Amino acid sequence: MTTQTSGQATDRTFTVVNPATAQAVTEVHLASVAETDEAIERAAAAFPAWRDVAPGERARLLRRFAAVVDDHVEELADLEVANAGHTRANARWEAGNVRDCLNYYSATPERLFGRQIPVPGGVDLTFHEPLGVVGIIVPWNFPMPIAAWGFAPALAAGNTVVLKPAELTPLTAIRLGELALEAGLPEHVLTVVPGQGSVVGERFVTHPLVRKIAFTGSTAVGKRIMAGCAEQVKKVTLELGGKSANIVFADADVAAAATSAPYAVFDNAGQDCCARSRILVERRAYDEFLGRLEPAVAALKVLDPAEESSEMGPLVSSGQRDVVRGYLDDVEVAFTGTDPGGPGFWVPPSVVLTEDPSAPIWREEVFGPVVAVMPFDDEAHAVELANDSEYGLSGSIFTSDLGRGLRVARAVEAGNLSVNSHASVRYWTPFGGYKQSGLGRELGPDAPHAFTEEKNVFIAH
Ligand code: NAD
Repeated sequence: MTTQTSGQATDRTFTVVNPATAQAVTEVHLASVAETDEAIERAAAAFPAWRDVAPGERARLLRRFAAVVDDHVEELADLEVANAGHTRANARWEAGNVRDCLNYYSATPERLFGRQIPVPGGVDLTFHEPLGVVGIIVPWNFPMPIAAWGFAPALAAGNTVVLKPAELTPLTAIRLGELALEAGLPEHVLTVVPGQGSVVGERFVTHPLVRKIAFTGSTAVGKRIMAGCAEQVKKVTLELGGKSANIVFADADVAAAATSAPYAVFDNAGQDCCARSRILVERRAYDEFLGRLEPAVAALKVLDPAEESSEMGPLVSSGQRDVVRGYLDDVEVAFTGTDPGGPGFWVPPSVVLTEDPSAPIWREEVFGPVVAVMPFDDEAHAVELANDSEYGLSGSIFTSDLGRGLRVARAVEAGNLSVNSHASVRYWTPFGGYKQSGLGRELGPDAPHAFTEEKNVFIAH
């Protein structure tokens, strides 16, 4: 085995690397434009039959797919530990999340209701018709859940799916594609097409048979995809970057806020679009908060992700590690946790103190285990600082005053807020961003509608 600096691509293959060891894991074939076209055309050919599968039968197939995923949770988790450096506990949760999404959206086919709207001279009915082929483009930070947040509601609504995993992390998506067949989904209903963004991803955008793009990734690529979709007025949902605020008021349980804050930003080594990477602390509680944060950061178990007790693993690639180190080189780090060192792509959890809202560390998405902490004076100041961002994905508010919690949650321009908690994502509640964090919503009861056209039919008496 050779030590890799990161995943390496030739024209046709990609070497997948274990981020904790820098050892090559396997080679993955990268699809060409011609192979992508073939996958899209087969998905289009499979669409009419899949659309016409009886609702109860489509539901049963999705539940079967969920059951097969459930039988393979450990195997999928092993793959994600080796491919993405996710901790074993997280990777197990992620595989379980795929199962849960499939089970949740298996209720859709039998409940994709239209409406009957009163009109004179006849009957007016609405239908939610599937779109055809849906292209799902997935980033490397949560390969399994983000794939399922797209394919589960899209398949449930009667679409066929082509799915492109990120170059760095294709292994679980490839396996999920195999498990779909094992569960009895017809061929070409869910096709995983590993490849480069500039080849496979772009072809999803330009191919006229792909009727919608569900993209999750960086804001820069999302803008490019949105512009590409405009050419064909192609539907698009975008789940993009974040720089979410964790706002701690002095009346909060400051100990609880400080001990939970590391998990809200350093989970998945900070490679989380919802990471609470800006902590705002009311000035009166600032010293107490920092005094409690430092030991909590030191106590975080940054270990080989294959170890059961590991709470944080490495960054996904040497490239991502270098980006994060670049940010840290430009600032004074107040304190850090530990990391195990060795050949993997490690950065210790790092805390930066700043009072400068124009500092890059405060404004830009670092996508690594780095958090910036800033004091604020009062509620209005906290909201102003939180909203002074081009992003608006998530956020947390810690306070013992529920009225304030709700008021601030309503005032913060972000799609997913939690009060006295950091929970952002549940498959049965809507998820998505304000401003440059995204367009449209995923998950929750309405997600299937984002993969349908609403059709209105009038029948004269
Ligand atoms: P990225 O934008 O570089 O890549 C995402 C996907 O797009 C990959 O599969 C990539 O191959 C593909 N891609 C790249 N160029 C393309 C092109 N020109 N056309 C079509 N596809 C193309 O993002 P990343 O580095 O993989 O992921 C990290 C980013 O994702 C972060 O900004 C993070 O905040 C964001 N993210 C957002 C959410 C959310 O739900 N809002 C969730 C996870 C990650």
